[in-house]
Amino acid sequence: MAYIDEMLQIDLCDGQVRVMLCETTDTVQRCADIHGTTPVCTAALGRLLTGTAMLGIMMKGEKETVTVTIKGDGPMGTLVAVADHGKVKACADDPKVDLPPREDGKLDVGGGVGHHGRMSGIKDLALRKNYIGQSELVSGEIAMDFAQYFTVSEQQPSLVALGVLVSGNTVLKAGGLLIQPLPGCPDEIIDQLELRSPMFADISWEMTFAPIEQLCEDWFRGMNPRILERTPVSYTCSCSRERMEKALISLGRKDLRSLIDEDQGAELVCHFCRSRYNFSTADLNAMMARAVKGEAET
Ligand SMILES: [Zn+2]
Repeated sequence: MAYIDEMLQIDLCDGQVRVMLCETTDTVQRCADIHGTTPVCTAALGRLLTGTAMLGIMMKGEKETVTVTIKGDGPMGTLVAVADHGKVKACADDPKVDLPPREDGKLDVGGGVGHHGRMSGIKDLALRKNYIGQSELVSGEIAMDFAQYFTVSEQQPSLVALGVLVSGNTVLKAGGLLIQPLPGCPDEIIDQLELRSPMFADISWEMTFAPIEQLCEDWFRGMNPRILERTPVSYTCSCSRERMEKALISLGRKDLRSLIDEDQGAELVCHFCRSRYNFSTADLNAMMARAVKGEAET
C-alpha cells in the first residue's frame, strides 16, 4: 500500500505557538526495507528520521541540509540521519541489533542506542558556515533527546513526541509532533500544552485511530489550530555515480593505486540506500589521472 507522508506546519493561539505534526509511516517502512532492520532498530531509526525531517523542514534556503548524529554507548553504534527539507535518509553502524522488550512491553530503543552519549546537529547552510549544535543524550529514546537538543543548542524549549509502531517487518504507523512556544507566549498557554501532553505521548498508537489532521483538531481544540503549510516527506537518497567518483578520487593516488593493482576494481555501497556502484580498473585509471592533476594543483 502506498502512503504519502506529509509534514504539517501549524500555528496555535494566533502564532504564539509553532507546531509540526507529521506522518512518516511510508518513509520509515522504506528505511526498514533498505537496511533490513530488526523492530527495535526500525523504531530507533524511524524516530531519528522523523525528528530530523522536522529540522530539515525548518531550514529556509533551497540547498540547506541538516545532519543529525547520535553517538550513544549502545550496540547500534552511531546513528546518522540527513534531511534535505522533506527528503530524509538514515543509517546505523548495526541496524540488525535485537533486544528483548522493556518491562513495560515496549521496544527497548534506549537500550539499542545507549543511554549515554551525544546528539549533534550540523546544518549545511550552503554558502554560509555550518552551524553545529550538540547536547548530551537524556535517555537514548530519541524524542527526549531531540527536546534536549532544541533546548540546549537552539535555546528553544520544545515538547517532542516521536513514535514508530512496528509489527515484525511492517511499520504500522510512524509520526512525530513538535511543539514550540515562541518568545512572549503567555504561561497559561504553556500550562495548557503541558496538561495536554499525555494525549500525544503515544503518537503512533493515536495515529492508528485518526489521520493527523483530525488529531490536530482534537489535541489543540480551543487553541485555534491553523495548518499553514504541508510538505511531502519521503525516504530519498541523492547519491550518484558522480559523487562516488569524487569520494574515490579524494582517497588519493596511493589508495587508488592499490584498488587498481590489488583489487582490480572497486565496488562502493551507499550507506543510506545500499545502491551499488562498480568501477573497473579503466575507470580507476582515469580517476588516477584526475587525482594526480588535483594534487598538482593544490
Ligand atoms: Zn544512496
